[in-house]
Amino acid sequence: MPSILIVEDERPIADTLIYALETENFSVTHLSTAQEGLTHFDSHTPDLAVLDIGLPDFNGFDLCRKIRTFSEVPILFLTARDSEIDQVLGLELGADDYVTKPFSPRTVVARIRAILRRGSAAHQSSAAHPGSAAHPEPSSELLHHQADRMSISCSGQPLDLTAHEYKLLAILLAQPGRVFTREQLLEQAWEDPGSAMDRTIDAHIKTLRAKLRKVSEEAAETIQTRRGLGYTLLF
Ligand code: CA
Repeated sequence: MPSILIVEDERPIADTLIYALETENFSVTHLSTAQEGLTHFDSHTPDLAVLDIGLPDFNGFDLCRKIRTFSEVPILFLTARDSEIDQVLGLELGADDYVTKPFSPRTVVARIRAILRRGSAAHQSSAAHPGSAAHPEPSSELLHHQADRMSISCSGQPLDLTAHEYKLLAILLAQPGRVFTREQLLEQAWEDPGSAMDRTIDAHIKTLRAKLRKVSEEAAETIQTRRGLGYTLLF
């Protein structure tokens, strides 16, 4: 059941959309302010976000910009200002589509379906052609990185990783076979590498392997130690 986040301050508009989406078996979360919408991402990753432009605290464009700093979630704008400028601006922000008010809920549902279909088609083609330009992160059945969700799954099971474990595994997974020194891993995965020590990397690799081993012994063994050098990931 795809999950949709709606950030819209006009209750009647939101209600129409919620009804149309729930009828089509979407799971819907509705919030009325941009800040609530942003905070929602602390604990949830919706499959798609529908953002109104005119919101009471800060506008939908700014909300989209903030979301884009950490998420590639598909975004559909609802706009009451149907000038070209707003529409183009909306699209340049990395939004996937927009609809102008008044709209028919049926149209919005159709647009949402189309965006989600495009997303899953791109996803499948990247799986068929690992390392393609559109999705540079190589993945396998064993370990699969969904960068937009900041999530890595092992044998189809999402891993419960700390931020540093996630970054380490994502770095290793991005370039299988490349040997990374502990210094390189610290620099790329820690905001303040100076405060951490080489042993920090070893400790995190250890917990990472343990988490992988719970799901798959084979996956745990993809992370290999190169004595005196560092770590590499090999399928
Ligand atoms: Ca509004």
